[in-house]
Amino acid sequence: MQTDYLISGAGASALSFLDVLLAETDANVVIVDRRDAPGGHWNDAYPFVRLHQSASFYGVNSRPLAPPRIPGQSFDAGSFELATKTEILHYFHDLMQKTYLASGRVTYLRNSEHLGGGLVRHLVTGKQTQVEVRKKIVNAGVWGDLGSIPATHKPKFDIDEGADFVPINDLPRRAPGHDHFTVIGAGKTGMDAVIWLLQQGVAPVQISWVRPNDYWLFKRERILNHPDLFTTTMKAFLGELESLANATTVDEFCTMMEDVGIWHRIDPDVKPTKFHAAVCSIAEQEKLAQIRNVIRMGHVTAIEPRRLLLEQGGVDMPDNTLYIDCTARAGIIMGQDQRPIFDGDTINISMIRPFQPIISAALIALLEARVPDAASRAACTHLVDFHDTPAQYIAQQLPSMMNQAAWSKVPAVKDWLGQSRLHAGNHLMAGFDPADPEKSALIGRMGPTAKQALQNIPALLAAR
Ligand SMILES: Cc1cc2nc3c(=O)[nH]c(=O)nc-3n(C[C@H](O)[C@H](O)[C@H](O)COP(=O)(O)OP(=O)(O)OC[C@H]3O[C@@H](n4cnc5c(N)ncnc54)[C@H](O)[C@@H]3O)c2cc1C
Repeated sequence: MQTDYLISGAGASALSFLDVLLAETDANVVIVDRRDAPGGHWNDAYPFVRLHQSASFYGVNSRPLAPPRIPGQSFDAGSFELATKTEILHYFHDLMQKTYLASGRVTYLRNSEHLGGGLVRHLVTGKQTQVEVRKKIVNAGVWGDLGSIPATHKPKFDIDEGADFVPINDLPRRAPGHDHFTVIGAGKTGMDAVIWLLQQGVAPVQISWVRPNDYWLFKRERILNHPDLFTTTMKAFLGELESLANATTVDEFCTMMEDVGIWHRIDPDVKPTKFHAAVCSIAEQEKLAQIRNVIRMGHVTAIEPRRLLLEQGGVDMPDNTLYIDCTARAGIIMGQDQRPIFDGDTINISMIRPFQPIISAALIALLEARVPDAASRAACTHLVDFHDTPAQYIAQQLPSMMNQAAWSKVPAVKDWLGQSRLHAGNHLMAGFDPADPEKSALIGRMGPTAKQALQNIPALLAAR
């Protein structure tokens, strides 16, 4: 078998890359994935999972997933444009069948592992096929592969066989008949489990929540890239830049982010130490704050039917408790292990925009297709790592801002970004009216404030 490009992985990042490559070149592609269907981890996600961010800029460039909409004021305000697992998987399935395979330019090897160098092994039969790759191998599964997902994650604590313990995937099936629910994990998955239980009508007193750490959260209502919300969202983005430009310590930055209303937290009495860029509406935050049985005694070490053991002690649990595991870790910090993106005859898909793997992959494909100059490619693709803490988040603003500055200097990239549905800012800028003095003033302040932020970040990080 011969091809121009072999893409290892058929998750959202791989498909975003493939979509732009097909649009911008005449290349043929072999795409390989261990899973039986396109969409990567979404195939094994828990049934009630949704996107964190708006579907208006998720998916691939050539096809909308959902139009931008304004959130309602209901319990799950802001969530109805957050595509569900079913919607996402249907979207990727349809694209693969009706667009990519129908083009005659794509060969899709499912249930197959890329062993490296174009060698592919079918996982069911074990049959190996050497794919001859004329141009490049694209590693689009590394980041997703390093993280863990609830369905396949192995908990790091002992579980007594008498304890009723389930991964979040099994919660809808196993919840009936239980009197108490103990959610283990403080991240977005834990929040989703608590919200799901409350939505079913479970009383807050029937829920215990193990939260070894607290997290800062993006306030969804303030970061919506919708044309009608231009002023609100732009003020929030400007507020973030001003916080980066003026804070003297990381702690002060966090307080400023809360004061300008772009971040919030579940418990006003506990200062979070973590930030994974999870997005949470005000209505969700208010619901989550109703849980009073919060266990802050470190990580769980063992689970017994009526007792939970933690690093800093033990807590008795009511009879008939269902324990829900939400401790898988999706986002991984790559650190020094990251390979450069353009790496000889290999392309390593990584983030070049903070916590946005999808547009990152699309931009990398565009650079491959349209920008042969190595120096321009390098200037546009400083690696942006994932982050665990606010300080790490701040540090990643530097490569991100350098990339953005470089993108605006390369005409092919600037033009593509100006019309791409994957660029969240385009949805927001559709609400910009140059004749409106308030909106113009906001735009006018962005550039100078970003420069001040760039200058202040090193000092801000050094002071922590
Ligand atoms: C719950 C949740 C909500 C999210 N919401 C958003 C959101 O709203 N907006 C947003 O931008 N991002 C969001 N993200 C982050 C990110 O955009 C998605 O997780 C995205 O689907 C990641 O896609 P991926 O292709 O990078 O990784 P994966 O989905 O993990 O796909 C990688 C694929 O590569 C395959 N693979 C790896 N190595 C090999 C190999 N050697 N051979 C064959 N196959 C291989 C794997 O089998 C896998 O299917 C969310 C993440 C989670 C977990």
